[in-house]
Amino acid sequence: MGNYLSFQEIQDKCGNLHEKYQIDEDKFYNVVEGWAEASTTTEEKLLGSFRGLLQVVSGEIETIENTLELKPSCRMGCAFCCYYPIIINKMEAKLMKQAIESFPEERREKLQVHWKEYHRKYGRQLEELQSVETDADKDFKQHYRQKQLPCVMLDTVTNQCMAYEIRPIPCRTYVNYADPAVCEKSLMPKETVSFEFLYGEYMGALNEFLQYLYEEENTAFIDYPNDLYTQDYLFNWFKDGDSPQNRQKSL
Ligand code: SF4
Repeated sequence: MGNYLSFQEIQDKCGNLHEKYQIDEDKFYNVVEGWAEASTTTEEKLLGSFRGLLQVVSGEIETIENTLELKPSCRMGCAFCCYYPIIINKMEAKLMKQAIESFPEERREKLQVHWKEYHRKYGRQLEELQSVETDADKDFKQHYRQKQLPCVMLDTVTNQCMAYEIRPIPCRTYVNYADPAVCEKSLMPKETVSFEFLYGEYMGALNEFLQYLYEEENTAFIDYPNDLYTQDYLFNWFKDGDSPQNRQKSL
C-alpha cells in the first residue's frame, strides 16, 4: 500500500503536466506519413496507421509517466474499468474489425462466439441503454456503471481484454496510480486519471491520412468523412454472429 499515491499526490503531479510535458505531434504524423508512402494496399496502410497510432498513444503515456515519476497500479486481471461505457466512431469500429480479421482463426472465432453469447446474455440491458441520451444526460456514465455491464470485449472469467492490443483510446488512456482498491470500492473513483487529450492528436493524424486517401480517390473500406461522424457504444459495433467481413459490408 505504501507505494501507491494518494489522491492529492496524483493531483499535484498531474497538475504540473503541462509544465513538464508537451505532446510530440510529429510522432503521430510520422506514422501516417510513413504508411502513405508504403507500397502496399490501402487496407494495409489504414491498418498499419491505426495500429501505429495506438502504439504512439501508449508510448506518450509512458513518457508522461516517466516525466512525472508515476507508476501505474493497474494489474492484469483487474478489470473494473471495463465496466465503463466505451463509445467509438464508425471508422474506428471498422479499423478494429479489420484488425480482428487478421487475428489467428482460433482467436477470431472465439471472439465471435463471445459476442454472440454476450448479446444473448445482456440483450435486455443493452436494449435499455440504447435510449440513453449521452449528450443530454450528464450523469450517463454513472448510470451506465450502475448497471454493472461488462465490456463486449471482456472475458469475465480471466478478466482480460480479448482485443487488448487494439483496445480503444478511452481504455488506453485511463490509468490508476492510487491503491487498486479504489476501483473496487467506488463505481467512479476520483483518483483515476484519463489522458484523453491524446485522442485529439490520434484522430487528427487519422483524419489527415483519410483526407489524403480521399483525394487519391481510394479510402478502401472507410466511408470518408461520414464514418467519423457516426458514434456508438462498442457493444453495438460487435454483434452476435457477425463475421468482421459480413459486418463490414453492412456498416
Ligand atoms: S476494449 Fe478491452 S480494455 Fe477496453 S473496456 Fe473493453 S475489455 Fe476493457
